[in-house]
Amino acid sequence: MENKKELRNWLDDFGLSHPLVIAGPCSAETEEQVLTIAHQLKDSDATVLRAGIWKPRTRPGNFEGVGALGLKWLKKAKEETGMLTTTEVANPTHVDLALENDVDILWIGARTTVSPFIVQEIADALKGTDKIVLVKNPVNPDLSLWLGAVERLHTADISKLGVIHRGFSAYEKTGYRNNPEWQIPIELQNKFPDLPLILDPSHIAGRRDIIFDLCQTALDLNYDGIMVETHHTPDKAWSDAAQQITPETLIKIMQDLKVRKEIS
Ligand code: PEP
Ligand code: MN
Repeated sequence: MENKKELRNWLDDFGLSHPLVIAGPCSAETEEQVLTIAHQLKDSDATVLRAGIWKPRTRPGNFEGVGALGLKWLKKAKEETGMLTTTEVANPTHVDLALENDVDILWIGARTTVSPFIVQEIADALKGTDKIVLVKNPVNPDLSLWLGAVERLHTADISKLGVIHRGFSAYEKTGYRNNPEWQIPIELQNKFPDLPLILDPSHIAGRRDIIFDLCQTALDLNYDGIMVETHHTPDKAWSDAAQQITPETLIKIMQDLKVRKEIS
């Protein structure tokens, strides 16, 4: 990959905080829910609001997202709080709708990164965009698939690229929902040192109590940011309830991470 330096510049160009903090609900549920969470995050370190509107549920019969309607809520949240917005896109139609509705950052989910066909279709739909595109690792621990997705997007002249480490599935049950396998993102960084790397502790943990430690490890490893699922009433969330934390808890986590940094 050429011009590696340009990959990193977008963090500065957007005046984005370092570490970049992305926060918001797993899923956009209602307009009121999105706006409530956005306002609770407004004065925190989070500069980007996340919310999934097309939800890739592993099994059918669960809440599959509010769809395009949620794009209006994200836009309103941006207008009211000044936060940038991000959502998951999983096909070219999602890409077109997200671009039409001024979503600032698009992310490709773990179940999409596994498919070179669909990644290529998304790359073609995004060709030449100046939007920021973040690529989650594939669900399975396969570095080549992750690299391949990044290369397809870079070849489509998408220069503001980054990656999100959300952990890797395994058949055996461990204390994690998805095992971190920290060596895999480190290997990816060895290949592309200037690709911003963001941790998604929520999908690694699957629970609330280890979010802080995962964030701390990411900062110790010099990650460029974190994306944390955050909900005003986490227990009532329509998806991924067990792992979401309140904006208040996120603010506390950020304070504690800073204190640790200052004394180390
Ligand atoms: C999400 O971010 O809510 C999500 C579905 O993530 P992943 O693709 O990592 O499972
Ligand atoms: Mn989720």
